[in-house]
Amino acid sequence: MMPTEATYFGVPGTLLFALVLIGSIAAFAYTVSRRWQLLTIGGPPEVRWDRPLERLRGLLELGIFQKKMWWDGYAGLYHMLIFSGFVVLSVRTLSLVLEGFFPAAGIPFLPAGAWHAYLLLKDVVLVTTLAGVVLALGRRYLFRKERLDPSFDAGLILCLIGFLMVTDLLAGAAKFVLTPAHASGWEPATKALSAFLAGAPASTLEAVFFASWWLHLLAIFVFLNYLPFAKHFHVITALPNIFLRKLDAPGKLSLVDIEKAAEAEKFGVAKVEDFTWKQRLDMFTCTECGRCREVCPTHLTGKPLTPKGFMKDVRTALYTVAGDLVDAAEGRADAGAGKRLEERKALIGGWVDEETIWACTTCRYCESACPVSITYTDKIIDMRRHLVLEKSEFPKEAQTAFNGMERQGNPWNLPAADRDAWAAELDFEIPVLGAMEEADRDSVEVLFWVGCAGSYEDRGKKVSRALAKLLHEGGVKFAILGSEETCNGDSARRLGNEYLFQTLAQQNVETLNGYGVKRIVTNCPHCFNTIRNEYPDFGGKFEVLHGTEVVARLVAEGRLKLTEPLAKSISFHDACYLGRHNEIYEAPREVLAAIPGLTLTELPRSGRNGLCCGAGGGRMWLDEKIGTRINQARYAEIEETGTDLVGVSCPFCMVMLGNAQTEMAGKTQPFDVLELAAAALPTHPGAAAP
Ligand code: SF4
Ligand code: SF4
Repeated sequence: MMPTEATYFGVPGTLLFALVLIGSIAAFAYTVSRRWQLLTIGGPPEVRWDRPLERLRGLLELGIFQKKMWWDGYAGLYHMLIFSGFVVLSVRTLSLVLEGFFPAAGIPFLPAGAWHAYLLLKDVVLVTTLAGVVLALGRRYLFRKERLDPSFDAGLILCLIGFLMVTDLLAGAAKFVLTPAHASGWEPATKALSAFLAGAPASTLEAVFFASWWLHLLAIFVFLNYLPFAKHFHVITALPNIFLRKLDAPGKLSLVDIEKAAEAEKFGVAKVEDFTWKQRLDMFTCTECGRCREVCPTHLTGKPLTPKGFMKDVRTALYTVAGDLVDAAEGRADAGAGKRLEERKALIGGWVDEETIWACTTCRYCESACPVSITYTDKIIDMRRHLVLEKSEFPKEAQTAFNGMERQGNPWNLPAADRDAWAAELDFEIPVLGAMEEADRDSVEVLFWVGCAGSYEDRGKKVSRALAKLLHEGGVKFAILGSEETCNGDSARRLGNEYLFQTLAQQNVETLNGYGVKRIVTNCPHCFNTIRNEYPDFGGKFEVLHGTEVVARLVAEGRLKLTEPLAKSISFHDACYLGRHNEIYEAPREVLAAIPGLTLTELPRSGRNGLCCGAGGGRMWLDEKIGTRINQARYAEIEETGTDLVGVSCPFCMVMLGNAQTEMAGKTQPFDVLELAAAALPTHPGAAAP
């Protein structure tokens, strides 16, 4: 039987092929429908289909053109080769399936020119995909990166992909020799391979053709049905996951309906079904590439949390009870399923250690590294919410900070009445909004939100005075809230105490709206992020600027002159809540560049790749008992650059790096960018000069 006859296998063979095809598609559809149901089993609602054009643009950039992989050299190359193989060869699979019924079918309705172009592309892609597979196997098993784990699953899938390419080429080459009249000059790789088969008996060629063809399609069916059970499910879910990615500011956390949650006596995430559907889609999508792990400061300093490990654990927790959860949601669960769900291993304390949950600094380096737009901190905070609000279980040091925020409006637990004491040392007075005549308030251009660190912490107070001087010199009409300002609630929220956060947020929004505040400047990136991105959920819609943005603007407009030279070298440490959370990288650098004599050297990890100081996510208030301290690890990187100073733009970073300098007897001194700018003012020369 020749492969050009009316059917490849006669009626019984064609029927058998039809059965195999229908069976495998049906099995795949069933599994995917169960996975789909698993997405819909509960959890709070989440809307991820707003702003479709923005989503589409991201899908093209991050999904189709894989922008995040461009800078990944070797891995980026083989991933692109394999990905392009999938795209082109999915059309090829369709053509091969059609051949099973109509051997001369090709792709219906395709004009000859397009058909030839397709044949050429297909042939090239078969070879490049094979090359991609070889490169990927090399990366996994010969010169493996730390971020990749040796995985049977990954090896199996890569071999399967390679097998698909080889069988396709072999079937094509055998057919080439068997039916030279139908051979196309547009398949150079197939033609080259056919030279090795030339001269073989027709029976051998037929055996090669049919065996390769069958094995190729059977491998595709196996591959298809294996995907939903393994990490390679991302082949199907990655593009939807990217399209449905978070578009809000990265640092914005979800709002909990406290009343509803209290009624249901259910806060945060205790079980896999408490996650939102999108959080479960993230679990389906993790490729286990380890890019998140390789940048996570907790992993780099030897702590148990690795974002990749976390994703794998929650996914395993989900898949272990997937069938029972879907049956239960459909009311089909028998007593056995109910018992299994009841007795399953706990998510918190079972699959995921509590230590892991408390280790995260919410720096989001992992999220910016993830090629498929997975988020982690929201999941971790949701689990903290359960521990704090439902179980009252949290590191005991957090209690002191909670008490301070609750009773005095600051985590240092210092008297609320002393909030504006820092301003007493200035040689000018800052108006306090509440003490101003109502008519005078209209002249206030911007409210200086000082923050708890800027009000109570010794170094933070110096920076507050520096910003006040800069605003004053720049002719900006500003005021403060004085003792009416209270903690913004960032640490409470990130430590899982959503109730306390919402109380503080509502109080602050009420005060700010009461005075008709429209524009706010702050030097604390945590205040900045919370007021800018999270207070709108409470009716507080303000234009929020970071201190360095205002000062950079004043310098650019010529309203501020920084004239006193500072002949020092400096590096700059990006604060996570200013940089990755809010994309502000340039303003602090512009201020540094405006100081005469100062030379900036970038740290190896800077900008989008800046390493956390260890204070975010409420970690500022917790002990760090495992592994190297994150502030010391970061400070060691800073010291290696050999600069005299390191610039910071966050009071928490200042405390953490200052502590590290003392602990390590380091030479590089941390200075806030605004302290240095104030010291360069002609009217305050050397005010805080190092
Ligand atoms: S979460 Fe993202 S970065 Fe981390 S292993 Fe999974 S796919 Fe890779
Ligand atoms: S947010 Fe930062 S600390 Fe937390 S898991 Fe991601 S990289 Fe690690």
